Amino acid sequence: MAGSGSEEAPDRSGAADAADTARVRIGLSCPSCGSAHVAQVLGDNGGVSYVCTSCGHSWS
Ligand SMILES: [Zn+2]
Repeated sequence: MAGSGSEEAPDRSGAADAADTARVRIGLSCPSCGSAHVAQVLGDNGGVSYVCTSCGHSWS
């Protein structure tokens, strides 16, 4: 049988992934490359983090 696997897909991961590209340009600059293309993302602990869409640097 195919479909009786025990693989679970966490819903939080999908939600965070969707929010990753939801918000861009929030008035911040990347501390690494200085680009203004910064996306605001929600962290696992409920906090807010930022990801540079230009160089991929992430910080909070
Ligand atoms: Zn950057």
